[in-house]
Amino acid sequence: MCYSPQNWGGKNTKYFKSIVFFNNALISTTSIARIQTYNVTLIHQYSMENFVVSARKYRPVTFDSVVGQKSITNTLKNAIKTEHLAQAFLFCGSRGVGKTTCARILAKTINCFNRTENIEACNECDSCTSFNEGASLNIHELDAASNNSVDDIRNLIDQVRFAPQIGSHKVYIVDEVHMLSTAAFNAFLKTLEEPPAHAIFILATTEKHKIIPTILSRCQIFDFSRIEVEDIAMHLASIAEKEGIKAEEEALHVVAQKADGALRDALSIFDQLVSFSGNNLTYEATIQNLNILDYDYYFKATSSLLKGDIPAILVLLNEIIHNGFDGHLFINGLASHLRNLLVCLDPQTINLLEVGKSIKPKYKEQSQNCTVGFIIKALEICRTCDTEYRASKNKRLLVELSLMQVASIMNSSIAEGEKKNA
Ligand SMILES: [Zn+2]
Repeated sequence: MCYSPQNWGGKNTKYFKSIVFFNNALISTTSIARIQTYNVTLIHQYSMENFVVSARKYRPVTFDSVVGQKSITNTLKNAIKTEHLAQAFLFCGSRGVGKTTCARILAKTINCFNRTENIEACNECDSCTSFNEGASLNIHELDAASNNSVDDIRNLIDQVRFAPQIGSHKVYIVDEVHMLSTAAFNAFLKTLEEPPAHAIFILATTEKHKIIPTILSRCQIFDFSRIEVEDIAMHLASIAEKEGIKAEEEALHVVAQKADGALRDALSIFDQLVSFSGNNLTYEATIQNLNILDYDYYFKATSSLLKGDIPAILVLLNEIIHNGFDGHLFINGLASHLRNLLVCLDPQTINLLEVGKSIKPKYKEQSQNCTVGFIIKALEICRTCDTEYRASKNKRLLVELSLMQVASIMNSSIAEGEKKNA
């Protein structure tokens, strides 16, 4: 809960948004005007001198280097090997999980003259070189978000007729295909049904439910999964190593959690952090920059809540608010923390604990003091607080009351136990 991008909140948010915008759109005077001059100079220097966005620099170029989509890449490799490649694919999944990357790798690999035994592109032949230079005529990308008219599709269909000059296949990638107008969809159907032998269509979408059934039935569908926190953290670690950046494992885990399953987001957060803290990325600096509360607060809070120590939890909340975090962020973070404790309680769910190695024993230890009953009641109270927060006139009191309720769970269950024993 606390790691979803919607809850970024806090004093650093604006700051980061402006920077993301800065990287994507290069220089926009209006956006720069909103950033303090000091920041602009800092980023400006960095981006001009040695800044290559990690997401672009480290975009995987082989099937094996795609992060967290093993089953899909294996299926594609097998299809190439056995020459049973479909002519129309639909790649579904949320943003930043590798759809376009896989589409590009597929295009490069099937056109390679010298594929390795492991069904990867050789990276040396004429076709591979032209792909690497972005000069290959065998790959066409259409962004349906901005080119969604019938004419755009007609242009595409016109090109499809021509066989490739070098290589065997022309690959057409249509990104955000759900944005095509109905008329464009209809114009596309015929070609999709009977494409020439040299054409392969890869349609990518974040919203599968918006694709009409006639398209779905003509495509081989691949569902890309959200990338695991552990996989993202490991990938970031390998990039850090290549870039000569010393990064603490905990810091990378926090970044991975914040990215919520999207590798591209993780990489851009990573870039921003590096541009702020230089070549030494500590957990401390990371949580400060991302406006995340330290794990320690949640461990402390939970231990007070378990003891039923109401004064201690109120003092802790005061400290957190004093440090510039809002109560909503804390309640949601506490809920995630409790959820983590819950999954520690059973060997079957322990793998659902997505935190760094060094912090895992701490979770296991604290979970020993909790009961499932306590955690469920506490989560319920947090959830109610979360939903009522926006409408509340006295937000701080709402959070305090919720915490007092959680702190009373153990007291009341002890009291009940005493009553039974009496
Ligand atoms: Zn090649």
